[in-house]
Amino acid sequence: MDRECLDCGAALRGRSDKKFCDDQCRSHYNNHLHSAQFKALKEINIILRKNYTVLSTLLKAQKSKIRKDELLKSGFNPDFHTHLHHTRNGNTYYFCYEYGVLRLEGDVFLVVKRAGG
Ligand SMILES: [Zn+2]
Repeated sequence: MDRECLDCGAALRGRSDKKFCDDQCRSHYNNHLHSAQFKALKEINIILRKNYTVLSTLLKAQKSKIRKDELLKSGFNPDFHTHLHHTRNGNTYYFCYEYGVLRLEGDVFLVVKRAGG
């Protein structure tokens, strides 16, 4: 069975552990792989940064309670967060860096900033 270059697909000859034609194919392949992974990270970072901006803007405007539909309209994506904070009384805050939200009754969210953060 012929082995093929992982980058360009050309048939490989020589050592059986060879994966690429040459250094050019190797670096092209590695750069492409890296950029695909980087793209995924970048997309998530954009969402997290948007969430962070929405929450910090709300608090700067002294708006610590917001209805869910307003929050979503402002561009907040509730599926993405950096970490959770569970309180002793059973509440869960969803944090995006130092800003967090807690879901209250009636689809209202409480916006908080972590103390000392
Ligand atoms: Zn090649």
